[in-house]
Amino acid sequence: MTDLAEAGAVPERAEIRDWLRTNVPAGRMVDPESGGPITPAQLEWERTLHDAGYAAVHWPIEHGGRGADLAARMVFQEEYELCGAPPRLNMMGLMLAGPTIMRYGTDEQKTRWLQPILNCDEIWCQGFSEPDAGSDLAGLRTTAVIDGDRMVVNGQKIWTSGATNSQWILALVRTSRDSRPQSGITFVMIDMTTPGIEIRPITQISGATGFCEVFFTDVSVPLDNVMGSIGDGWAVAMNALGHERGAGRRSYVTFLRDLAQIKKFVDGFGLADDLVIQQELGALLAQINTYRHHVGRTVANSDGAHPRPEASYNKLYWSEMTTRLHEVGMRVLGQRPEAARSAELADAITAWQADYWLSRASRIFAGTNQVQKNIISERVLGLPKEPRR
Ligand SMILES: Cc1cc2nc3c(=O)[nH]c(=O)nc-3n(C[C@H](O)[C@H](O)[C@H](O)COP(=O)(O)OP(=O)(O)OC[C@H]3O[C@@H](n4cnc5c(N)ncnc54)[C@H](O)[C@@H]3O)c2cc1C
Repeated sequence: MTDLAEAGAVPERAEIRDWLRTNVPAGRMVDPESGGPITPAQLEWERTLHDAGYAAVHWPIEHGGRGADLAARMVFQEEYELCGAPPRLNMMGLMLAGPTIMRYGTDEQKTRWLQPILNCDEIWCQGFSEPDAGSDLAGLRTTAVIDGDRMVVNGQKIWTSGATNSQWILALVRTSRDSRPQSGITFVMIDMTTPGIEIRPITQISGATGFCEVFFTDVSVPLDNVMGSIGDGWAVAMNALGHERGAGRRSYVTFLRDLAQIKKFVDGFGLADDLVIQQELGALLAQINTYRHHVGRTVANSDGAHPRPEASYNKLYWSEMTTRLHEVGMRVLGQRPEAARSAELADAITAWQADYWLSRASRIFAGTNQVQKNIISERVLGLPKEPRR
């Protein structure tokens, strides 16, 4: 561990850049979202980050982070992506489980779970969505019946990213039912090796198996694993989702890299003089720069580490932009289908096609774009609330 990491100081941009340039491993690592098994190289990279104090710069110093506020965290994210560093393995642990445990967990829970998240000994997934409960999350039907000092869970989750590689799932279960659907929901941490849990990967159009169905049959969970109090999990879940949609999720650098990749295709295919393509690339660059400044404004207006409802603009913007970027890229590839056979570009084309499918899902995950528009209209603009059942 470096002296600076020991001191827990928020690192400077130049220092982060130097460290990443020295330490980032060569070659592309598979995105864990694809569902393949975790490789030793991926784990080693996570441990290297941890040992240098870079596993979670946004975590408070007392929990092993650097105490970085949103602005400092964005700097780290930008440098990370500029270096082409590998995709992170434990995003649900670092972004959702960790901050939730810090805010709502008991001292015992913090001691039990935070360190293994940070050093990637335990990987987490998010078990919120169910077949009839996505945007309308309060409609969830997985039940938990209290039995002494344990609860018995029955039901099904769906679209659980990374379930096959996870040791823990943070789950929402229904412990009671009354007239208000948000009441009676409990937020609980469940060990994925508990008997009665069955994971079924879902094969997507790209061939990836990154997300899964998770079935619970009489799964016995200690009440000590409840986060917050029984029946009051809705507030815990809303806080966790705020972290998921926050400004730190995507840096403009990712989009600049995508644009640079399209430009390589354009140059490689001899299309640089195509006026329509030139216009499209110019428009995309303008949008990326707008996004960069918009994120800067969101960060400047945030209260330290916590995103405000305005973060919904960011989610809306980056998901539309990544969709558009990948559509333009696919149009360029479509003009030279024979290029897919060129040895030089083949890997980049295969990766682009896989990313294209994932980009289409970006309007859905982390809260659909229609739901973000509802949040913006109600909570940012103060317009009348949508009618609810
Ligand atoms: C790649 C990917 C990864 C995911 N990973 C996870 C995960 O790890 N864990 C997890 O729990 N979930 C995960 N999800 C699930 C995701 O959170 C849900 O798909 C999402 O919340 C939408 O729910 P749904 O699919 O049930 O669609 P629905 O909620 O049924 O929505 C269908 C359509 O109706 C629209 N709609 C719904 N309600 C409203 C409204 N009030 N106003 C206007 N329009 C509305 C939606 O915008 C959408 O267009 C993932 C999804 C994807 C695509």
